[in-house]
Amino acid sequence: MILAPITLTGHAQKEAWQNKVLPPIEQLGRDVWSIPVSFPHNPMRYTLSYLLLGDGEAILIDPGWDSEEGLTNLTAGLRQAGLGLTDLTGIVVTHFHSDHLGMAARLRVASGAWVALGEREVRRFTASEDLDLVLSMHREELTLWGVPAARLSEVAMNRPSLVHLQNLADPDLRLSEGSLVPAQGLDLRVITTPGHSPGHICLVDEPHGLIFSGDHVLPRISPHIALELPGPANPLADYYASLDLIAFEDEMEVCPAHEYRFRGMQRRVAQLVEHNRARSAEVLRVVEEHQPKTVWDITRHLTWSRGWDSLQSFSLRLAVSETASHVVYLRSNGHAINVPVTHPHLVEL
Ligand SMILES: [Zn+2]
Repeated sequence: MILAPITLTGHAQKEAWQNKVLPPIEQLGRDVWSIPVSFPHNPMRYTLSYLLLGDGEAILIDPGWDSEEGLTNLTAGLRQAGLGLTDLTGIVVTHFHSDHLGMAARLRVASGAWVALGEREVRRFTASEDLDLVLSMHREELTLWGVPAARLSEVAMNRPSLVHLQNLADPDLRLSEGSLVPAQGLDLRVITTPGHSPGHICLVDEPHGLIFSGDHVLPRISPHIALELPGPANPLADYYASLDLIAFEDEMEVCPAHEYRFRGMQRRVAQLVEHNRARSAEVLRVVEEHQPKTVWDITRHLTWSRGWDSLQSFSLRLAVSETASHVVYLRSNGHAINVPVTHPHLVEL
């Protein structure tokens, strides 16, 4: 199917993306700034953080991965807007992933700003969590999905990554669907868009004609929609519903958390729906042709951009958990796929 292309607006960002360098800090309107924050050792390379100035307010959306380099990037962006770190009054984070929430804890200490997440967002591992239990349940889940014992330690999360997640900032505020971010002189409306994470939010700024889309809608890549336990029962169904919600208009400029800005939210949503539908169809074909016994069996028969053998550790885990989300979704639509997916004693949120 041929779908209408989106309209690129972040030209300097796209050029930087292609040249594998950090894009420039940009002023998007009198009171709005785009500040790229380095995302070290990751192919995404940077998170686009946004600074919005209200009446005595300085709100930062998605401060990015916690690193010295990233802090330097942010400080430089604030300086261009005539501010210092201590001037921040609020930090809004679209979802809990470390490349968005990571730097929030440090910025809160430096500035006293509040940190806000969506009301449905989970903090997967709180300080009180028994990490050994989490790790063993996670390994059980992967085993159930058919990850071979010999590859379990490669694919599974390890203790350092859990400790890292545990140390992310706990929010001071929770933002509910349709509410406004509490900042004088700003008009930032919250749209709850679960899918990429259980409580992902987007922010709509009508006066500036901007939509801050986090990782829900990106111009080039299709966000990872994973089945994670504990977590929502059918994340792909949630994602489709969230795409519907955000496709309310096509003219506003979309400010994503990665890659580059564009216009054409409805066009991009149509592409993302088509991409996921095609993937689900491929899962059904694999089920028919190969009679797989596990999620792993399905995953290895799917097409992968750099080939199945290129998938390792983290990317392999993403591949398997994404396939699991398609299986759950297809089953909820009446397709009989006979592979084990959900573990009886893991809680659904
Ligand atoms: Zn991200």
